[in-house]
Amino acid sequence: MSKSFRVFVTCDIGEEALNVLRDRRYQVEVYPGPQAPPKKLILEKLRSGVDGLITTLRDQIDAEVFEAGKGTLKVVSQIAVGFDNINRADANRYKVPFTHTPDVLTEATSEFAFFILAALARKLWDAEHLVRENRWDYWHPYLPFLGDEVTGKTMAVIGTGRIGQAIIKKCTGFDMHILCYDPVFQNTKFVDAIQEIKDLRYKHGLYQERMTIKYVTLEDALRQADYVSIHVPLIRPGESDTPTLHLFNERLLRMMKPTAYLVNTSRGPVVDEAALAKALRERWIAGAALDVFEQEPLPADSPLRDPAIADRCRLFPHFASAGKITRLSADPNRGMAGRCVQGLIDVLEKNYGGDYTKMPWVVNKEAFNRAA
Ligand code: NAD
Repeated sequence: MSKSFRVFVTCDIGEEALNVLRDRRYQVEVYPGPQAPPKKLILEKLRSGVDGLITTLRDQIDAEVFEAGKGTLKVVSQIAVGFDNINRADANRYKVPFTHTPDVLTEATSEFAFFILAALARKLWDAEHLVRENRWDYWHPYLPFLGDEVTGKTMAVIGTGRIGQAIIKKCTGFDMHILCYDPVFQNTKFVDAIQEIKDLRYKHGLYQERMTIKYVTLEDALRQADYVSIHVPLIRPGESDTPTLHLFNERLLRMMKPTAYLVNTSRGPVVDEAALAKALRERWIAGAALDVFEQEPLPADSPLRDPAIADRCRLFPHFASAGKITRLSADPNRGMAGRCVQGLIDVLEKNYGGDYTKMPWVVNKEAFNRAA
């Protein structure tokens, strides 16, 4: 039976996963509110001696937090794949490993990105409103509006990591040409495999045109694509050579075709929202579907809420990974909650011989390399 570790959880991650900890005699305290707890409360809890902290992307985890947990805090376990709310340099300085939940949300997030792309292009929101508001008065070949097809079009995938590759697989089913951009990681083996599948579909007459996939420059991707889907982490200047903060600024938005659509399910600050609102108002691009925002929840006065662009701007509440199994399954191979608690257990119970560099979901392994 394990030692009785104390864990503070900043948001209810579901009974099933919390019981995994309770069954191991952990003392688990869960912040009850649906909103994030005030930072002051997190600091108080840590000062009272907490071994493990479970966080969401809403909690700012920095030197102040690590200082408050000094001497007792052994792990921060984030229920998300993105960890831009955790100051990695501070975690390394305090030698606290932090974990995340990659892979288990990849399919849910990528399918959602594809669905909102389709909803935007085929005007599903406007079409349903016609019916609900009793404005559906006739069937007509093109009135009151038409949408844009997705099948056979060209998709640019910005960031070809886990979720980028997963959406490429979905686009392949829709016989799309695919342009890939990733300055850090070019998975040519994956791209070759997808090309083989496309060639097979063509060879067997499943599609009339030979479709292609290739890595290109960002400029080529934006100038040629009918759809652009963003799948990069939020990286601030100074954190790496390829920062993504405001990557989609006025200059890049102006490169896109006026008929093209932008989809963002990565992190809000990757897109300069003021520039995007202008691009939509002035029709530099045809539309945007957004699941993430510079400030969340989206402020009431956001320019993205402008009724003048409502027909071409779809807005969602950071919902891409929000599938029942994806969010709540306690199985670490299926759910974020399960992977989150398992990452915490690995550190606290010294699994993998207590070697953080061998633990699959520890992010900041560099702080624990022998040479470091
Ligand atoms: P990943 O690390 O597997 O992939 C990210 C890719 O982006 C990597 O291949 C990396 O090389 C690339 N990249 C880095 N800098 C780049 C740049 N400047 N330009 C282009 N590409 C760049 O991560 P993932 O699991 O695919 O997740 C991607 C991001 O999606 C997460 O970091 C998170 O922020 C976001 N996300 C959002 C939701 C949601 O609910 N909306 C859910 C899951 C993930």
